[in-house]
Amino acid sequence: MPPPRTRGTALRHRLAELRGPEIPAKALDARALAALAANPGCERRAILDGAGVNKTALASALGAPSAFGQSQFALTRGNAFEARVKSDGGAELLRLVHEKLNRGAEPPSAAEVPDLTAIGPEGRTARTELALREATAAGAWTLLDHPMLALDVAGSPAFLEPDAVVVHPDGGWTVVEIKSFPMLDGSADPAKVGAAARQAAVYVLALEEVAARLDPPARVRHHVLLVCPKDFSNLATASAVDIRKQRAVTARQLARLTRLQDIADTLPEDICFSPELPGEKLTAAVEAVPATYAPECLSACELAFHCRDRSRTAGAVTSLGRSVRAELGGLTTVEDVLAAAHGRAGDPADPAVAALRRAAELRAEALRQADARAFGREGTAASAAPSQESTAPAEALREQDSAAAVGPGAEDPTAAVAPGAEDPTAAVAPGAEDPTAAVAPGAEDPTAVTALGQHNPTAAAAPGRQSPTAAAATGQEGAPCR
Ligand code: SF4
Repeated sequence: MPPPRTRGTALRHRLAELRGPEIPAKALDARALAALAANPGCERRAILDGAGVNKTALASALGAPSAFGQSQFALTRGNAFEARVKSDGGAELLRLVHEKLNRGAEPPSAAEVPDLTAIGPEGRTARTELALREATAAGAWTLLDHPMLALDVAGSPAFLEPDAVVVHPDGGWTVVEIKSFPMLDGSADPAKVGAAARQAAVYVLALEEVAARLDPPARVRHHVLLVCPKDFSNLATASAVDIRKQRAVTARQLARLTRLQDIADTLPEDICFSPELPGEKLTAAVEAVPATYAPECLSACELAFHCRDRSRTAGAVTSLGRSVRAELGGLTTVEDVLAAAHGRAGDPADPAVAALRRAAELRAEALRQADARAFGREGTAASAAPSQESTAPAEALREQDSAAAVGPGAEDPTAAVAPGAEDPTAAVAPGAEDPTAAVAPGAEDPTAVTALGQHNPTAAAAPGRQSPTAAAATGQEGAPCR
């Protein structure tokens, strides 16, 4: 008689059904977890990742393949660099850890490199925990090469494999991230450093769970070591990266993830995400799970093109960016926004509605002034040298301008907004003929959002500018300590 099904095995069985028969689960890595934590409200991604669905294959089957992911060239280069850094028993790697993180300790002359091989991820996780326990008790430099850690994600275990974990003589543990992007004069691309820091934060969270089980608990250091090629060479250089902020954010976001069981319970019994299903059935299955698309998905999720198309088709304001979505409050579609701006709907006491109407008034005023100027020029030219062109009414000129500015979207109010969502330069033209222009340019630009709230026509009319504050913040994220 088969053993009674527990809640855990029932969930695993259900997730396997969702993945499709005979399809192996795709393991969650720290990169995917960091991306998942960046959009905790997306149930679609949570259930697909939890079920181990290959989202790259799914996106291709849906007809919206994503360019997201690492190139084969980058992978090969990264692996070769990592092997070089870890050669000779990890001597160079340990020297860098000593130099950047623990100069007060004795130099690592001969480090332990325990064997972590075991059967299956559960076996490797147990072997890693044992090695960490022994190394901490021994109080000697120890290098764990590709240890395996487990982290509970929305009620399901995810197995993670950091590049290395170093145990210090004082019993502290450090996560090491080895990347193939270069560090030039001691600093690297802030966006790449930020991504590496978010990834390392996931490893630190998993390590903390192991550390808490030790008696006394071990200390997981919140400065990780980022190792990169030095100035495009094959030589390794490193920097200590403070990941306290990323760790706190990731922990909070992972805690907010809806439990997989709750999401699975809301889905129809026969739903399946196998890429081998006919396109129509597969699309219906994916659409059955709610998603919260944001432009950030384009750099974090394989399904981004599919979700963006759906979001635009539905006229959802989420495709304009999270900041705009937050500013618009209860106005969830572009149609609602246009109706509010034109005074056809919406409560005038609502600050978002009031701001939209004010933006519409400012735009109408600007158009009137432009008309008057065009008419003045036209009139002067006509009196100086009458010709067929010069007698064209200003209204006709304005209509011509309107058509040029709006283009194919002229018939479609949503089209006037959508193009501006992710392209600050394109955001200028489409908005020219539409009161929501004050909304669209702000999609990616915090300054424009401020402008919306402040009724500032100057700021609203300069959508393409990137906020210096935002730029500074981006640059600061996960910046290496020097
Ligand atoms: S692309 Fe789609 S599935 Fe992926 S996180 Fe964004 S909304 Fe969710």
